[in-house]
Amino acid sequence: MALMGQMMAMPLLISSLIQHAARHSGETEIVSKRCEGDLHRYTWRDAERRSRQVAQALGRLGLSPGDRVATLAWNGYRHLELYYGSSGSGLVCHTINPRLFPEQIIWISQDANDKVLCFDLGFLPLVEKLSAQLPGIQHYVLMSDRAHMPAASSIPNLLCYEELVEAEDGHYCWPEFDENTASSICYTSGTTGHPKGAVYSHRSSVLHAYGSALPDAMDCSSKDVILPVVPMFHVNAWGLPYSSAIVGAKLVFPGPHLDGKSLYELFETEGVTFSAGVPTVWLGLLTYVKSNGLKFSSFKRTVIGGSACPPAMLASLMDDFGVEVIHAWGMTELSPLGTLSKLTSKQLALPVEQQRRILEKQGKVIFGIDMAVINDEGQALPWDAQSSGNLVVRGHWVISSYFGEQRSPLVAVDGQPGWFPTGDVATIDADGFMQITDRSKDVIKSGGEWISSIDLENIAMAHPAVHEAAAIACAHPKWDERPLLVVVKKPDAQVTREELLAFFEGRIAKWQIPDDVAFVAEIPHTATGKIQKLKLREQFKSYRLPSA
Ligand code: AMP
Repeated sequence: MALMGQMMAMPLLISSLIQHAARHSGETEIVSKRCEGDLHRYTWRDAERRSRQVAQALGRLGLSPGDRVATLAWNGYRHLELYYGSSGSGLVCHTINPRLFPEQIIWISQDANDKVLCFDLGFLPLVEKLSAQLPGIQHYVLMSDRAHMPAASSIPNLLCYEELVEAEDGHYCWPEFDENTASSICYTSGTTGHPKGAVYSHRSSVLHAYGSALPDAMDCSSKDVILPVVPMFHVNAWGLPYSSAIVGAKLVFPGPHLDGKSLYELFETEGVTFSAGVPTVWLGLLTYVKSNGLKFSSFKRTVIGGSACPPAMLASLMDDFGVEVIHAWGMTELSPLGTLSKLTSKQLALPVEQQRRILEKQGKVIFGIDMAVINDEGQALPWDAQSSGNLVVRGHWVISSYFGEQRSPLVAVDGQPGWFPTGDVATIDADGFMQITDRSKDVIKSGGEWISSIDLENIAMAHPAVHEAAAIACAHPKWDERPLLVVVKKPDAQVTREELLAFFEGRIAKWQIPDDVAFVAEIPHTATGKIQKLKLREQFKSYRLPSA
């Protein structure tokens, strides 16, 4: 019989992260630019105490373990307290992307069965518009103080966050429970059909925090001042609220102030050393810094991911500003980090030009994630930097199924089941560096946010002059991708580009409206009648959008 290990089976719980930070980095600051406009400062010790008060307050609202606490909020200390106060007490933190169209927010909130909705001051008008269609929400909490509460509001049971917190004494012990308990849920519209929920566990979140802080990953330490530009509603700000707690780093939250000037000022006044975000935000920051002849005095390195990092951006940050760029790939389904590109000791000896080609790749897996590229028959392809195939992954922080779905999304590799198909197409080189070459999933990613091509096509097809429509991603220098609508008109029907684009207004979020319309005689189809998106993308490869 096997000899069993005799080590303690202490569950990996999210509450242990903030307890650790409070005990060992208690004095370290958390600075937040508030929605109210001012700067708020306190410490990890304060954050832990207030998270306990949040846990008490949520309990007093009558929530039971497993209930979902939704947030519509920017990066800030109150959002952090909700992360820990909800998950830490056995509730499930559901961060909703406020940039989605109201109908999508309603659908997602109902699907998740949210019981409480906590939101920032700036989202008051949005929540007032939505609340009548969210019958499942029992309590609405405005994340501000009494002074900022509206005199009157159509929202039923509107509660004040600060009042709820201050009413509690903080005498609360973080409960211990199974580490496989759900901790948070994030929705992704990165696939076809309705958005899908990825439910993370305490175990997966703690392991992700451990793994992502490693030197060859994000390399976080107590000496860092970390400013997550990536929103806390985008896959938990790539885990930074957790990994910062593990290492005891200072955290700086920009709130809704994400323009180049505001970010630069915060970077400088708070001594930010490390940041993370999608390429589009760096474009704004770099434009501001360059056009004002500025330099960074403390900023050392940044993770760029969510979309491919343009080589010119990587070069500019590294050469003009001495900021190390760590190109990363991840997905909501991985909570999110999978690979990061950091040179190995062998590669440090290579000429700079060769190093750049490596750093431009999406990189190597963090321990805890396995990857493979496979052909359409499920056979693993060689790691030769040439063989391009469907990227599949498995690991401690990869979902095994979507929330509420019976059907397993997993596939087999060489007959071995249990791999998650990412919908990305990639190569892997002999050193294990993965490079995304295409995407088999039918979506458009603009500035790090998804646009469903199906939604766009459905709207276009509702126009009386449209016979057939296909929405495809078109390369864009600022947003990486923007939607182009390819349309076949009905015989004898008349419609202009402007009329078609105007038809989208009010039917979808403004930023999701296609940038342009291309009228064609025919759209290519497969033998089974499906639109051949890959072929269409190829056809429009050199198409230049008017906005580009
Ligand atoms: P999300 O679930 O919104 O985080 O989106 C995940 C998807 O974004 C991936 O499956 C890729 O298609 C894309 N993506 C993420 N990071 C990168 C990257 N560094 N380069 C290219 N595509 C990326």
